Amino acid sequence: MSEAFLLGNGVLVAGFSPKCAVQPQVIPDGAVVWRGERILAVGPEAELRRAYPDARFLDAHGGLILPGLINLHHHFYAALARGLDPGAPLTNFAEILDRLWWRLDRALNVETVRISAQLSAADCIRWGCTTVFDHHASPSCLAGSLDVIADVVNASGLSAVLCYEVTDRNGHEQARAGMEENLRFIQEHASDPRIRGVVGLHASFTLRDTTLAEVAERRPPRAGCHIHVAEDLLDVEASRRAFGLGPVERLERFGLLDEHCLLAHGIHLQPDNYRSIASHDAVLVHNPESNANNGVGHLDAANAAKLGCTVGLGTDGMSSSMLRALRAAFFAHRACHAGEPAAALPALLFNNVRVARRFFDEPLLGELAPGAPADVIVLDSAPPTPITAENLLSHLVYGASEAPVRHTVARGRVLLENFCHTTLDVTEIAARARELTPGLWQHFAAMKSGTNYLGQ
Ligand SMILES: [Zn+2]
Repeated sequence: MSEAFLLGNGVLVAGFSPKCAVQPQVIPDGAVVWRGERILAVGPEAELRRAYPDARFLDAHGGLILPGLINLHHHFYAALARGLDPGAPLTNFAEILDRLWWRLDRALNVETVRISAQLSAADCIRWGCTTVFDHHASPSCLAGSLDVIADVVNASGLSAVLCYEVTDRNGHEQARAGMEENLRFIQEHASDPRIRGVVGLHASFTLRDTTLAEVAERRPPRAGCHIHVAEDLLDVEASRRAFGLGPVERLERFGLLDEHCLLAHGIHLQPDNYRSIASHDAVLVHNPESNANNGVGHLDAANAAKLGCTVGLGTDGMSSSMLRALRAAFFAHRACHAGEPAAALPALLFNNVRVARRFFDEPLLGELAPGAPADVIVLDSAPPTPITAENLLSHLVYGASEAPVRHTVARGRVLLENFCHTTLDVTEIAARARELTPGLWQHFAAMKSGTNYLGQ
């Protein structure tokens, strides 16, 4: 039998919802014990030490013990864009896509896809994210690209839901190839405990009706979709112009809105659109840092939640820190609703948990409870004031979001121990990234812009 671990000497928060299986939700001298991939016990440290005297002790050094964080929208492939010169100022969202991201994704090869995934996985671990939903595009090395990323995820110890971005902007043949990549991957990982697939779609304005119809017809039941929606007005206006319907209406028309449908952004929508999303129990993913970076406005998460939507949180390739994203969501809320309580914000992290459970068929994922997957992190942030279930958000936004992560444990494996990676050689990965980046950037510079959205 494998060795049991006891992680203690910290303040334990059992989960992000007041309805956690373990009560009280906050245990001041708390500990968690796991063996293999599953949590055995959660409770006061003194009790657990008596019950598990032989367990290997992992010291939280007074920090905050939390469930592993979940990111609902990431782009691993963006890792080598830092410092990249697009050649001219990017003055609007269409230019950001056409002159930066769509040139970068076409310039990627297998090696740069792999190193980007390694850099991003290392960052996820460094910031305490143990489950990540990635949205990938690499048209020049499409077939098998999800396997390259899955190998990295596997080696890193993370859990992930992966997809390839189907789009017609490089022609319908490529859209079909993207669909095949998703369908193959979904099937091959249908019962994988740590890596699952979902159908990736770029955005309504680069997807023809025929492509959406094929996706609807061919995807397996409960496979879901992961798509950008109304990130900029461009998506809404170009969809209406080309297809007579907005992005949410099109997804609804093709039967693609359901509880496994992830809609990243959802900024420029009407109240009826939010009501449709809510009525299908689809998921809106708020990406406040990326939205601020692109100057596209921001989702009024409070309003969307008021209209019944499940609103989760992602980073959209900007970073891998979910607590920084939470802090950005808090500021975005303040910008919309100065002086009003941030009622929707405490739900963001728990909604990520609820959504991840749907994809992994794990009813206790994202919570510290007996029987749950052992995804546990320690923030190096000893709470300087009393911490309760009621004021947890304030501790996360004003203190913990700035703290480094001391330990990251995923499915029982210690991936980060006392700030050091155990599964990835980050020095070697960074050195390899520096070797590969000049070649990638040269390819990027040679790529033409001026893509037609529907590949015509
Ligand atoms: Zn995105």
